[in-house]
Amino acid sequence: MTMDEPTVLDVLVVAPHPDDAELGMGGAILRFKADGYRVGVLDLTDGEPTPHGSLETRARETAAATKILGLDWRGNLGLANRSLQPTLEARHALAGAFRQLRPRLLFAPYWVDAHPDHVAAAELVEAARFWSKLTKTDLPGAPHYPQRIVSYYCVHLRLVEKPAFVLDISEVWEQKRAAIECYQSQFVTGRPTQPPTFLDQLRDQAAFWGWSIGAAYGEPFASREVVGLASLRDLV
Ligand SMILES: [Zn+2]
Repeated sequence: MTMDEPTVLDVLVVAPHPDDAELGMGGAILRFKADGYRVGVLDLTDGEPTPHGSLETRARETAAATKILGLDWRGNLGLANRSLQPTLEARHALAGAFRQLRPRLLFAPYWVDAHPDHVAAAELVEAARFWSKLTKTDLPGAPHYPQRIVSYYCVHLRLVEKPAFVLDISEVWEQKRAAIECYQSQFVTGRPTQPPTFLDQLRDQAAFWGWSIGAAYGEPFASREVVGLASLRDLV
């Protein structure tokens, strides 16, 4: 695992590849940071090879996006891109990271996807969350059970799902877009330049979810468990 010194976080976003966290919930991350939460992203793989990327390019793009998001921490678990599997070994490594980073909230990719790495990542997060609380194990750190898992959408299918909730990201949309644009090798190079471009479509989706809650831009989230409210104050 390559990572900065582990630190205690409020929110940990687990992503199969560098760019999934930005795509699925870059706006939420920026909102969490504005609210004073300590937020980290753990990429499970390096995301390479891709048609127009390289390890060096991807690392540079990830560093630039990390800066825009203002993350408190970002790491890479070093699992195998394209052949990610929810193995016991991977579960051990991820549970160990949870026990070191101790997030209250976990964010995982949505569990239905065409990309097998994303499906594996969703399963892996659930399993590692359970292992993270175990006593009498050889896992590093003290037992820790993240309170909730919320799923973000970075899906390689044209799914139109009903989300559990939508977060208003109108104020941070431009920053989210800038973070995604850092990944030129993934979203710009070699892609059609005629409108609607990939980034145009992304904006249109954000505008649709924004419209659904009466805002300019929004991000949808799913949850297998029921979502509770502490008060009505933040309802939009
Ligand atoms: Zn991905």
